[in-house]
Amino acid sequence: RIRRRELECRYDIDDMTPLFLAIYRSLIPAEEEKEKQKQLLVSLRKLVNKEWPDAELHLYGSCANSFDVSNSDIDICLAIDDSKMSKSEILLKLADILESDNLQNVQALTRARVPIVKMMDPVTGISCDICINNLLAVANTKLLRDYAQIDERLRQLAFIVKHWAKSRGVNETYRGTLSSYAYVLMCIHFLQQRKPAILPCLQEMEATYLANVDGVQCAYFDQVDRIRHFGAQNNESIARLLWGFFHYWAYCHDYANDVISVRAGRNISKQLKDWTRRIGNDRHLICIEDPFETSHDLGRVVDKYSIKILREEFERAADVLQYDSNPSVTLFEPYVP
Ligand code: ATP
Ligand code: MG
Repeated sequence: RIRRRELECRYDIDDMTPLFLAIYRSLIPAEEEKEKQKQLLVSLRKLVNKEWPDAELHLYGSCANSFDVSNSDIDICLAIDDSKMSKSEILLKLADILESDNLQNVQALTRARVPIVKMMDPVTGISCDICINNLLAVANTKLLRDYAQIDERLRQLAFIVKHWAKSRGVNETYRGTLSSYAYVLMCIHFLQQRKPAILPCLQEMEATYLANVDGVQCAYFDQVDRIRHFGAQNNESIARLLWGFFHYWAYCHDYANDVISVRAGRNISKQLKDWTRRIGNDRHLICIEDPFETSHDLGRVVDKYSIKILREEFERAADVLQYDSNPSVTLFEPYVP
């Protein structure tokens, strides 16, 4: 039922840690880039508040959850009382405002699954997507950022996994592979399962953060500076964890029966969630439960073709780390069809 391989890793996997740490550091955005993002946000706030004095702009996604690599686009959420205008009307109005302030390539995508306005700021060169009232995304951004502060190995692992996924062409939801958000959840889940655990399950702990967001209860322990030593009992290196991550998804995960759940801090059964068969477009071939919108499977974009590609890529990555003489290069070799 579950394919397993030798659990033995190359004897020198830990020696690869400095190389992977160097890759991780090279991906971190420079301070000045973060500064430019903040400036852009300040000027956008001024602009938006001229039209809507009570509206708020929140950063979300990787630029706010600490999993952003350099030159990322930024994601912004406009929080606005929309009882007077429809979402589309707000987006079109917003596009007008941005255009008349000389922002470039302004486009309102009112029919997208998540409707947004896209634009580029010619002063900083930063591209950004603005959505309306997507406050659950703002809440899950905070959850990811809080997890990242507990143990630095999460950020290291997720950066390298994201970099791998982008290089190998498996970070494209429109083609049936997984979002960056899904990969970060897979990393958190993996670190929750280590023995001893490297990350706790914040949603199973005493709730110090409580919010009702669009009818969804978001509750978890967010005083993360009090648990910075949580993973100290486990001294696995980043190279070993990286190999373990791919090995888990290649040879150990039970795709037929399990759902990974960061909320529960463990695998739960597909049966329990009634995710055992295709319903509409949701195929549930790899199941990743959203930590707050628990009826939402982030793997639902994966179809019978892309699941094969994904699993072959997990196997390739695990094997590269286990056998290749130059894994820090081979792992990220661009995929050429
Ligand atoms: P990247 O650096 O690749 O842009 P990202 O962290 O911004 O990565 P995205 O996948 O672009 O990740 O998603 C942006 C944000 O939107 C996520 O951080 C999350 O808050 C939210 N999000 C994305 N996909 C989903 C989803 N399927 N369900 C709920 N929220 C989502
Ligand atoms: Mg993003």
